Amino acid sequence: MIFTVLTLFPGIFDSPLKESILKKAQEKNLISFNIVNIRDFATDAHKTCDDTPYGGGPGMIMKIEPIYNAMLNIEKNFDKPYYILLTPQGKIFSQKDARRLSKKTHLCLICGRYEGIDERITNLVDEEISIGDYVLSGGEIPALVLIDTISRHIPGVLGSKDSITNESLEEPLLEYPQYTRPEVFMDMTVPKVLLSGNHEEIRKWRRKESIKKTIMRRPDLMESFNPTREDQFFIKEIMEELTE
Ligand code: SAM
Repeated sequence: MIFTVLTLFPGIFDSPLKESILKKAQEKNLISFNIVNIRDFATDAHKTCDDTPYGGGPGMIMKIEPIYNAMLNIEKNFDKPYYILLTPQGKIFSQKDARRLSKKTHLCLICGRYEGIDERITNLVDEEISIGDYVLSGGEIPALVLIDTISRHIPGVLGSKDSITNESLEEPLLEYPQYTRPEVFMDMTVPKVLLSGNHEEIRKWRRKESIKKTIMRRPDLMESFNPTREDQFFIKEIMEELTE
């Protein structure tokens, strides 16, 4: 997978792409990055990339031509990528989107700044994505959120296959509680079943705790959850426990 990023602040990507999982994934040639400075594609002597809004109002708007020129240049060097505009007005990004987008071979993430990009950019992209209902100063951190989350779904990026399948939200469920040494910390103990060595009992406990956590913290997720017969039994037990 190639991630191209169009940004006015390429330096923001320096450190995050050089650490941990993303670093290793590049070393294994599973992902690569092409960080493009939009300013390099401005055509006037001052390399202008923003201007005042038509109709007046505060702030500056990013111009469309430098971005369009950068897109043309990418298409000269690669097959046409799948273009994603980072914007608080887009569809809220989810784990399901990360899985879907991990199947693409080349994503181009377009980062806005200031008051955003000239609206005509929306006609040039395949999709508009928001990382949540809040406004950041630029699209660079949202782009990093997408890069990190999508990369985790690319086979070989994570150490073991299981580490993605068990994770929160892979099903519409939160992950079960996890513990590590010490067994007792400030009088708080690790659930006995996890020390039992009984794999079937541990599996059942984890499944039930996962459902319980979701019911208590994110009941909205239960609407799209398809319980098995065993899950239905756990749900009944959880409801009884909660109403006791
Ligand atoms: N004036 C714009 C609006 O109200 O929609 C917000 C502009 S914001 C200050 C600057 C840039 O940050 C946006 O163009 C976008 O690329 C990025 N951005 C801000 N919040 C975001 C979010 N929640 N998700 C994705 N991108 C975001």
